[in-house]
Parts: sequence; C-alpha cells; structure tokens
Amino acid sequence: CGIVGYIGDREAAPLLLRGLERLEYRGYDSAGIAVLDGRVSVCKRMGRVQNLREMLSSPECGALAGATLGIGHTRWATHGDPSDRNAHPHVSRDGSIALIHNGIIENYSTLKKELSSKGYRFSSDTDSEVLVHLMESIRASRPELALEAVVRKALHHVEGAYGLCVISDREPDRMVVARKGSPLVIGIGESEFFVASDAAPIVEHTRKVVYLSDGEMAVLTRDSYVVKTIGNVEQEKLVTELDF
Ligand code: GLU
Repeated sequence: CGIVGYIGDREAAPLLLRGLERLEYRGYDSAGIAVLDGRVSVCKRMGRVQNLREMLSSPECGALAGATLGIGHTRWATHGDPSDRNAHPHVSRDGSIALIHNGIIENYSTLKKELSSKGYRFSSDTDSEVLVHLMESIRASRPELALEAVVRKALHHVEGAYGLCVISDREPDRMVVARKGSPLVIGIGESEFFVASDAAPIVEHTRKVVYLSDGEMAVLTRDSYVVKTIGNVEQEKLVTELDF
C-alpha cells in the first residue's frame, strides 16, 4: 500500500502513476488518483496500476488531464473488500474534498454512526471514508476554517494509524498531509514538491527530502512547505540529501 502526491507545474497524473508503479513492490489490491484543477476529479480501479493507467487514457478520466496538483494511492484492504468503490481516493458528499489514507482508523464505526445520524451517506465500506465526511462536517459547521485547520480538527477525533493526503477545491493550490504510524516523505524539487510513503517514487525527481515524524503534518504549496505537529506547533525539519 502506498501514497504519492505532487504539486508543481508539471502534469500531475502521469507523475502520480509513475510514482504508484514505484510503490508497487509494497503490495496492493487497487489504485486511484485524484487531481485538483479548479475542481476535484477522481479515477480509481481495483487491480493493477496498469489497469488504472489504461483507464486514465479513457474519456471517463479525461478531466484529469492537465492538472498540476494531485494525489495517488495504492490500497491494501483492511476494511471492505478490494473493489472499485472501496478504492481510494474518497470524496466528500459535496465533492469538495478528496482524501487518500494508508493505515487503520480504529474508531471508525463510532465516527460512522455519528456521521450517518447527521445525514452523511457512505459510498464505500472502508474505515478511511469516515475521514472525508468528518472533514466536510467540520467545515460545514465552521466554514471559515482553512483546510489545514479542518484536517487538524478531524485528526483530533481519530484513533488509529494514518498516512494521509487531502486536497480541496476551496484551496486550489494546496495539499495537506499528515502521518501517525504510516511513513511519509516530502521530496523538495525546484518549485515542485512530492509526497510519498517512501523515497522510491521521489529519487528520480530530487535528492532532497524531509521525513515527517509521527504526529506531524505538512502544508504544501507550489513554492513553500511548512511542517507542524498535529497540535499546531511549527517544526524545524532537517532536509536530508538522499544518496543512491
Ligand atoms: N484501511 C484502509 C482501507 O481499507 C486503508 C488501507 C491501506 O492502508 O491501503 O481502505
């Protein structure tokens, strides 16, 4: 299972696909990509990354072309069968937030009950999908909150392990990532950034990386990144030079 993310000025989908191929060795049962180009667009499919590659050249995934910000996921099912509908990314009811998640949300059934009683309908059997509805519900009650704050507040309700990436059409030039128990690495390029579960998808683009520690999150734009704790304390991070 694995995570990739890209924000920069190159087309995201081909970079994300290539990144997912670099993570194939970790094992997975389905794969998917979401991009942000004014709005959120998603393509996902059970099976090989190759299936997703073929799907991306079909008209149903045409909306992904040209976007320069996106997230990609390979899933190793823990909650819900391997299937198209359980593949990540998951999207909020209003279509504004897309999320990928590696790990397990231990208290997902409690959260799912609460969200269901507020009218949120689930389109997958995964634990991960609760996160995206939880974020939408937090933003619905506090529309002024930035995506970063929405993610932080959501994570305060969550028990379990995660590596995750979130994008939203309300903040079209930004990606928010977080880790607890699942590794995440940021690759620092020339006016572009990569995110991945390990350095394998990053090395061909840049040697400069920042390893997130457990309990940290990062906000990436095309020309900056900030790492904070999930408790909102900014962190000085060491930039490591990969040597391969
Ligand atoms: N628990 C999530 C699911 O079953 C994520 C699995 C993973 O780490 O890929 O969808």
